[in-house]
Amino acid sequence: MSYALQAETLVRQLEMAPFLDALEASAPGIVDHETWAAIIDHAARFACDVIAPLDVALDREGARFVDGRVETARGHRAAWEHFARDGWLTLALPEEAGGQALPLTLLTACEELFNRASPAFTMLATPNRTAAAMLQVAAGPEIRESWVPRLVSGEWAATICISEPDAGSDVGRIRTRALCGSDGVWRITGDKCWISYGDHDLTTRIGHCMLARSSDAPGIRGLSLFLVPSTSEDGAPNGVEVRRIEEKLGLHGSPTCVLGFDGAQASLIGAEGRGLQTLFQMMLLMRLSCAPQGVGVAEAALSTALGYARDRRQGGDPAAGPVPIVEHADVQRQLLRMAARVEIGRGIALAAAAVMDLSERSIAAEARAGWVALAQFLLPIAKDFSARLGFDVASEAIQVLGGAGYTREWPVERHLRDARVFALFEGTTGIQALDMLHRRLWRDAGEGLRRFLSAARADLLDDPLAAATARTLDRLERVSQRLDSWRAKPRDAEAGATAFLDLCGLAVGGWIAWRLVRFAGDDRIGRRIKGAARFFLEELDARAEVEAQLATLGAGRLDVMDDYLAP
Ligand SMILES: Cc1cc2nc3c(=O)[nH]c(=O)nc-3n(C[C@H](O)[C@H](O)[C@H](O)COP(=O)(O)OP(=O)(O)OC[C@H]3O[C@@H](n4cnc5c(N)ncnc54)[C@H](O)[C@@H]3O)c2cc1C
Repeated sequence: MSYALQAETLVRQLEMAPFLDALEASAPGIVDHETWAAIIDHAARFACDVIAPLDVALDREGARFVDGRVETARGHRAAWEHFARDGWLTLALPEEAGGQALPLTLLTACEELFNRASPAFTMLATPNRTAAAMLQVAAGPEIRESWVPRLVSGEWAATICISEPDAGSDVGRIRTRALCGSDGVWRITGDKCWISYGDHDLTTRIGHCMLARSSDAPGIRGLSLFLVPSTSEDGAPNGVEVRRIEEKLGLHGSPTCVLGFDGAQASLIGAEGRGLQTLFQMMLLMRLSCAPQGVGVAEAALSTALGYARDRRQGGDPAAGPVPIVEHADVQRQLLRMAARVEIGRGIALAAAAVMDLSERSIAAEARAGWVALAQFLLPIAKDFSARLGFDVASEAIQVLGGAGYTREWPVERHLRDARVFALFEGTTGIQALDMLHRRLWRDAGEGLRRFLSAARADLLDDPLAAATARTLDRLERVSQRLDSWRAKPRDAEAGATAFLDLCGLAVGGWIAWRLVRFAGDDRIGRRIKGAARFFLEELDARAEVEAQLATLGAGRLDVMDDYLAP
């Protein structure tokens, strides 16, 4: 589909997205579909005209490591400056931070378009605006006033700087040290790895939002958050060395850096020993941005597959000419399956964003707590559903293109390579699944899940189309009760955690699909959306039943695994 059609689809999905009534009630005037449509149209044109033409160069030329610095591909800097100049970094930031105070829901729609054009390009914008949002709240006036305006103008950049060789998922094992000298200045020493855009020539200065160990307290209690500038403001070195960039499968335009810090001067952000909690706001926003990332890349792959299937001719009556492969039932099934997951992933992303908006904007404490619980339930689902969607749809697109899909002549192999990491960074699938089990279900006593079930059930009308969704909600409730009773045998439950996360995704997806079928309308856009959503509902029972059973296999499976993996 063209960018214009994708924009129209996003506008239609926004018109019927859940929770927008509540958002409007919490901040009157904030839901303005006419303005949103104009902004999405602008985003579509920017994505198509400015970002998309760059993506091949970003992939092929990538970023290069030259004399200790990272050089980006031709055209990258001009596009970045254009992106910043057009105000895309400020869209959902509060006015105090120089932002336009528009909702995350709208930003999520725009990000899908940018990511379709190039996820490697779009990845720099996310730490910039999320660091600005975090610093606006958590930093002292000096840091806030010097950094926030330059981050939102795109003059300076930011990174999220957590990972180390021995601390990936296990953040509590970070070893990088922060010492406060007798002069009151913090200095950082240690190694960080896999830092996206850890160095580049797109901006004049980079601020690393870094977790480092500031005391001997074990685990995350010893971690504080620091802003570590790449250089001082006049360009003098600050003890930050770019050791190398990783040679990786995809996202070549986004330099992934190994960084060394040797007494680098830093500013403490927030309270000492509360680094992870302070960084949390930035991490949540970054995690939300993973949703339009996966959907955007999946949309790119789907669009290529649809176009190819209409042109490519194979099969049919040997006495007549070959027919377009789009006429074969198996190819249609593949295309519909891809389209269904894209449409539902889009709907889940927008719903999660709307709930995040509500959790930030609701004033009454009780209402806010409810939205926070629901956001915490929806976020791992939106993140992981879309992450795997990106890779799976790219893979299915290659299948539709046959041998051509495996060549560099077509973009789908690039989409596959780019998307593989989405289920790894910002928390792997396994870590999201454990979060759902340990924190959301056990620690929070399933509060977010309960709120989701009651919102979805209140919504479902008594019509035959709602039946599969209603059954999936019941299944999810039953499985969650069963897993809840396994607190005393956590390994049994952990072995089924990813299936449980998938079942949650199918339940939320089923509810979104039902809403799309119900409210999408009967014009060309509405029929497309409805068709994809109906296909999702057709397969829902079968898929949900599999995940429900896999989530609760329990002890038998553990025995087999332990037996096989015994040293
Ligand atoms: C392209 C790219 C960009 C990145 N950008 C950044 C960045 O900008 N900033 C940054 O700080 N980091 C970044 N990262 C790092 C990324 O966040 C980590 O790779 C990720 O958190 C996983 O950590 P790990 O690779 O060490 O995997 P590990 O933690 O070693 O995990 C390996 C496997 O074990 C599983 N596992 C681990 N622990 C458990 C457990 N307790 N229970 C069950 N299963 C477990 C995981 O799910 C995974 O499948 C980036 C990585 C890549 C590849």
